[in-house]
Amino acid sequence: MNSKKGIAILGSTGSIGTQALEVLESYPDYFDLQVLTAGKNADLLIEQALKYHPNSVVIGDETLYQKVKDALWSEDIHVYAGEQALCQVVESNEVHTVLTALVGYAGLKPTIHAIEAGKTIALANKETLVVAGELITKLAKEKGVNIYPVDSEHSAIFQCLVGEFQNPIEKIYLTASGGPFRGFTYEQLKSVSLAQALKHPNWSMGAKITIDSASLMNKGLEVIEAKWLFGLNTDQIDVIVHPQSIVHSLVQFEDGSMKAQMGLPDMKLPIQYALTFPQRLPTNFPRFNFMDYPQLTFEAPDRKVFKNLDLAFRVMDMHGTAACSLNAANEIAVDAFLNEKISFLEIAEINQAVVESATNVLTPSYEQYVQADEVAREKAREFIGKV
Ligand code: NDP
Ligand code: MG
Repeated sequence: MNSKKGIAILGSTGSIGTQALEVLESYPDYFDLQVLTAGKNADLLIEQALKYHPNSVVIGDETLYQKVKDALWSEDIHVYAGEQALCQVVESNEVHTVLTALVGYAGLKPTIHAIEAGKTIALANKETLVVAGELITKLAKEKGVNIYPVDSEHSAIFQCLVGEFQNPIEKIYLTASGGPFRGFTYEQLKSVSLAQALKHPNWSMGAKITIDSASLMNKGLEVIEAKWLFGLNTDQIDVIVHPQSIVHSLVQFEDGSMKAQMGLPDMKLPIQYALTFPQRLPTNFPRFNFMDYPQLTFEAPDRKVFKNLDLAFRVMDMHGTAACSLNAANEIAVDAFLNEKISFLEIAEINQAVVESATNVLTPSYEQYVQADEVAREKAREFIGKV
């Protein structure tokens, strides 16, 4: 029997995926890489497959299947394409943990398959919990599956909770860097460019999450993610802007004590922790030096200027498919902004308009989530056509 932990990385060509591969490479005796998947980046997927020799690879875009197949013809690697294959590879007996590092709604279906097959989930794809948190957490409970957070804030909360699982949480504080537009007025945000929005001060990430960070939608999505991961109510979750990104988040317990998790901003640490929990494996990551950060500062987020954050809190209280609609609208709006079809502020306007026009289905089935997603995308496209 294989004593190493079999890992599937969904989205291996992305920012989280490539960093996860660096982590796996450091511990060849601990991990056994089973599956790599990409969306469209066939070249990088081929390069990764030749370097790491997984059991299987999946290219999401079926038109690229032949290219990947031809490049790997002499290797003992199974090559598949398309969404269905993505759902099937995670079910392999050799896979112990699935790292969900796809971006957006595309992560939902394979995550459901992985949970149904009893796989441990290392969850980077926060949209899965935003879209269908109720369904996912219920399913995970039924199947006895653990979901370990990769998102740095949620990993921080999780790390603070180790040894405290019997103690109720009074409140959590999710920290936010504030993004490139921290301190901007609404007036100033009217004229910000795509290039400015893509320049995150502390983290290097995929394009979608970078824009979400600039609009504080990312923090809004993380608030909803935290609700599902830790079973919290709206009034138990607060957001605090911390521009240095050293304190990754905090938990406050019922005796008033607070615990925080700190460190230099490097996603490899939360990725590794999610894959090795409860163990901490030694790393040579740079260590924090107090003298480099003589001051750690905190301030309130401006929810009037960054309307997405406020909207996420409101949506969280609506339950049902409201957050699914918000996520769908945001994916379409961010894509339009990345293609310079709308302005930065129009992202939040479209999100709000779609949420307000959507029918909120309470206690939805999987099919109702799918439908809410489709309707919201269509609405968002309509609004974009009008701006
Ligand atoms: P990237 O855009 O860098 O990577 C996304 C990955 O998903 C790529 O491998 C891409 O493939 C693949 N992909 C995208 N769409 C599809 C699809 N329809 N079907 C199959 N594969 C697809 O994103 P990030 O790595 O930045 O983010 C991944 C997730 O992790 C997001 O949910 C994000 O919110 C979360 N996260 C990211 C952090 C970060 O530091 N980057 C921090 C915390 C959370 P390809 O490129 O080949 O098309
Ligand atoms: Mg985060």
